[in-house]
Amino acid sequence: MSRYVYDFFEGHKDRKDLLGGKGANLAEMTRMGLPVPPGFTVTTEACREYLRTGDLPDGLFGEVEEHLRLVENRRGKSFGDPADPLLLSVRSGGKFSMPGMMETILDIGLNDHSVLGLAAHTGDAHFAWDSYRRLIQMFGKTVYDVPGEDFDAELAKARAAAGGEELGVAELEDLVNAYKKVFYAHTGRAFPQAPHEQLYLAIAAVFKSWNAERAVLYRRQERIPQDLGTAVNVMAMVFGNRGPDSGTGVAFTRDPATGRRGVYGDYLQNAQGEDVVAGVRNTISLTELATIDPVSYRQLLSIMQRLEQRYRDLCDIEFTIENGNLWMLQTRVGKRTPAAAFVIAAQLADEGVISLDEALQRVSGEQLAQLMFPHFDDAAAPAPLTTGVPASPGAAVGAVVFDSVAAAAATGPVILVRRETNPDDLPGMIAAQGVLTARGGKTSHAAVVARGMGKTCVCGAEDIHVGETVFTVNGHIVRAGDVISIDGTTGRVYSGAVPVKPSPVVRYFEGELTPHGDVLLSAVERLMIHADRKARLAVHANADTATDASRARRFGATGVGLCRTEHMFLGDRRVLVERLILAENETERDAALAALLPLQRTDFEELFAVMDGLPVTVRLLDPPLHEFLPPLEDLTARVARAEALGEDPGRDGELLIAVRRMHEANPMLGLRGVRLGLVVPGLFAMQVKAIAQAAAARVAAGGNPQPEIMVPLVGAVQELETVRLEAEAILSEVVGAPRIRVGTMIEVPRAALTAGQIALEAEFFSFGTNDLTQMTWGFSRDDVEGEFFGRYLDLGIFPASPFETLDRDGVGELVRMAVDRGRAVRPALTVGVCGEHGGDPASVRFFHESGLNYVSCSPFRVPIARLEAGRAACAAAGSDSR
Ligand code: PEP
Ligand code: MG
Repeated sequence: MSRYVYDFFEGHKDRKDLLGGKGANLAEMTRMGLPVPPGFTVTTEACREYLRTGDLPDGLFGEVEEHLRLVENRRGKSFGDPADPLLLSVRSGGKFSMPGMMETILDIGLNDHSVLGLAAHTGDAHFAWDSYRRLIQMFGKTVYDVPGEDFDAELAKARAAAGGEELGVAELEDLVNAYKKVFYAHTGRAFPQAPHEQLYLAIAAVFKSWNAERAVLYRRQERIPQDLGTAVNVMAMVFGNRGPDSGTGVAFTRDPATGRRGVYGDYLQNAQGEDVVAGVRNTISLTELATIDPVSYRQLLSIMQRLEQRYRDLCDIEFTIENGNLWMLQTRVGKRTPAAAFVIAAQLADEGVISLDEALQRVSGEQLAQLMFPHFDDAAAPAPLTTGVPASPGAAVGAVVFDSVAAAAATGPVILVRRETNPDDLPGMIAAQGVLTARGGKTSHAAVVARGMGKTCVCGAEDIHVGETVFTVNGHIVRAGDVISIDGTTGRVYSGAVPVKPSPVVRYFEGELTPHGDVLLSAVERLMIHADRKARLAVHANADTATDASRARRFGATGVGLCRTEHMFLGDRRVLVERLILAENETERDAALAALLPLQRTDFEELFAVMDGLPVTVRLLDPPLHEFLPPLEDLTARVARAEALGEDPGRDGELLIAVRRMHEANPMLGLRGVRLGLVVPGLFAMQVKAIAQAAAARVAAGGNPQPEIMVPLVGAVQELETVRLEAEAILSEVVGAPRIRVGTMIEVPRAALTAGQIALEAEFFSFGTNDLTQMTWGFSRDDVEGEFFGRYLDLGIFPASPFETLDRDGVGELVRMAVDRGRAVRPALTVGVCGEHGGDPASVRFFHESGLNYVSCSPFRVPIARLEAGRAACAAAGSDSR
C-alpha cells in the first residue's frame, strides 16, 4: 500500500516530485538542524488519488493521525486541547512553484472553546480572537468558496464602528460572530468546531485548488504539466503577531533584482506572513532587524549562508520570529530578474561554488533576449489602447505615419502603421522606429523584416482599423502625427510617449561599452565566451545588406546563412523589376535583367566584403513577382479615377493588366521560388552571374569571399538539377571566381521526404522552417496567428506558436528525417536552418540534438543563439533546464 505522509525529518530537497518544492525544502532544512516548526507533508500522490476519486485516499487518516501525534509531542501541546491548543497551518506546495495560485489556511484547530484557552494561556485575548477570525475567513474562502468581499465588508463595518483600524477584544468577538453568520449564510452549516474535521476539509480543499481555473492557466503559461498534483504541508503554527519581540519577514541571500551580494529582504514587526504579502502595513528593510533583535538577525544571516552553500544558488526565505525565537517557514531557490541570473551565475562560478558549465545552465536565451531589448518604463505607462501580436521585441515611440513616403519625409521618429505591410513598405520600415499592423502574424512580412532589422514590431492588432489618415481603436481616434508607443515584447500599443530605457547589453555587443567595472556586462561576457567554447552549432545570421551583416558579425555571427535577395529588388530598383515583368519580348526582358545585374553585383560585393573569410549563403529570388507591383486595389482605384476624369491611365493601365494576369488565389503556394526561376528565363542566371562576378571582384581586391548559392522552395530533385546545371555553366564562365557551392532550402514537405534524392544534387541543405511549418500544418503563415492561434493556445493544442518554437513532433520529424536521408547519400552534407526558429532558444536545442551544423537567425538574435548553442552542448543528458 502507498504511503501518503512523510515527517519533515524523513524527506530531502531532491524529493520534489513526491513532497512538492515546499515540502522537500522544509525537510532539507529540518535535516540541516535549522529551526523549522515540526510538521509533515501529505504527498502529491495522495493529491492525484484525490483528484481521481474525489475522496481522500484510504489509509490517509491513520497516517495523518500518527504524524500529528509526533508533532504534538515535539510541541508539547495537543491538537484540539481547549486549554492550550496546538494550531496548524495547511499549505499547498507543488513540484514547481506557482506563487499565489493555490491555497493556504492558518490557525486550524481553533474553535469556540479553544479560542478562550488560547487567550488565557497566552494572556493575549486580542491575539486569540484575531486568529480565530482569520481562520473563519480563510477556511470559508478556501473550503467553501465564501466570497472574500463578504468578510471584508464585515471587517470594514467593524472598523467604521470602532472609528479606526484597530479593533478591541470585544469588537473582535463581535466580528467572529458576524463572520460565522457570513459562513452560515453561504454554506448552510455552522462553522465546523471539530479540529480534525477542519484539518481534513482543509487538506482536501488544497488538493482541489490544484484544478482552480487560475492554477490551470498559470501551468499552461509556464508549461508545467497539469497532472502532477500538489503536496500539502501541515505544520505547527508559530506566531509573528505576539508583540514587538515577534514579527515576520522574507529574505534573499543575494539581491534578486541585480544579483549583487548582500542581505536583502523585508521585515514586519508584530505581524503574520499574510500581512507582508498583502501589503497591509509598510515593511522595513531587513537590515533594521539588526537593531530590533540582533540575536535573531545574526542567526538568520548564518542560516542564509548555510542555505546558499547547500543549494549552491540564490535562496529566498520566509521566516517568523515568535517572542524572540527565530523559525524558518520556507526556503527555495529564488526567482530572479534576467540581469540577476547572469550576475549570480558568474559570481557562483567565480566563487568556485559551481562550474562554468553549470553557470551556463543557470541562464537562458530568453533571459539574454530580455536584457537586449530596450524597455518601456512600465511604471510610467498608461493603460494600453490595444494589444497585438508581439512580433519583434523592443520599445518604440514616434509619430504615426501611414505610408513610406511620409515615413521617409519625417524629421523626427515615426511609427509606421499599416493594415499589413508589403515589400513596398520597406523604405518606410527602415525610416520608422517601429511598425504596427492590423493584420499578419509573427512570420508575416512586417514581422520577418522588422526582426531582421532589430526594429520593434507589433502586428495583427485586430482592433485597429487603419484608414488613410487616421486609425481607430476601441473608440479612440489616432491621427497622422499623433505620438504612440509600441511594445514589441508584450504587443501593447499606447497612446503618447512612454519613457524608454536603452539596453547596455546591446551597446556592449555593438562594442560601444566595455565590461570593465560593470557586473552585468562582465557576467554576460564571461558566459558568452564559455558558450562559444562549448558550442557545436555555429551561428550564422539572416542578413540582406552589408549594414545588417556587419552588425551580425559584431554580434558574433560566423557567416550569413540567408541573404534574401528580394530585399535587393526594392526601392528605386522596383521600376526595373516592373520592366522585367512587363517585358513583351526577349530584348526588353534582357535589357531589364542587364540593368539589374550591376546593382545586384554591387550589393553582393559589399556583403562579401563585410563577411570576408566567412560563408555567405545567397538565396535566389523567392517571392512571386507581382509582390513587386503596386497592390491590385490601389491600381484599380487609380485607373478608375483616371478613366472617370477621361484621362489616359498610362503605365497604371499596363500594370493593372499585369497584376490581374499574375493574380493568384494563394500566392504562398504559387509561382514563387525555384518555380519562378524555371519560368522566367534569365532571372536566376542574372543573379548567379552577379554573385560570381562580385566574388571574382573581391578575390581580385585581395579578399576571401565565400559565397554559396541557395535555391528556394525546391520540392523535386529535377527542379534543383535544372537550376544547378544552368548555374554551374554560368559560374564556369566567370573568370577569377572562387568555387561556389550550390545547395537548397528544405521548406516543402516533399523536399524533406525526398531528401535522399535531393542530396545527390545539393551540396548543402538549409531548413526554411517558416514555410516548412506553414506547409506541414497547412497554416497560412500570414493569417493564422491573428485569427485563431490564441484559441489554440488556450485549448493547449500547442504550448507555443509553431511559428515561434519548432513543432518537434511534426515539423521536427521531417527535419530529422531529411538530415538522415540527406547524410545517408552525402555524409559531408552541411545542414543548417534559416527559418525564424533558428533564433528561438527551445528550437536551437532541438537543432543541436538533430545534428545540424549551424543555425541562422536575425542579427539581434545571434547572441541568444550563441548562448543556447553553448547551453545545448553542455546540458547534461536529460537534465531539467527550467
Ligand atoms: C523559411 O521559409 O523558413 C525561410 C527562411 O524563407 P522565407 O521566410 O523567406 O520564406
Ligand atoms: Mg521560405
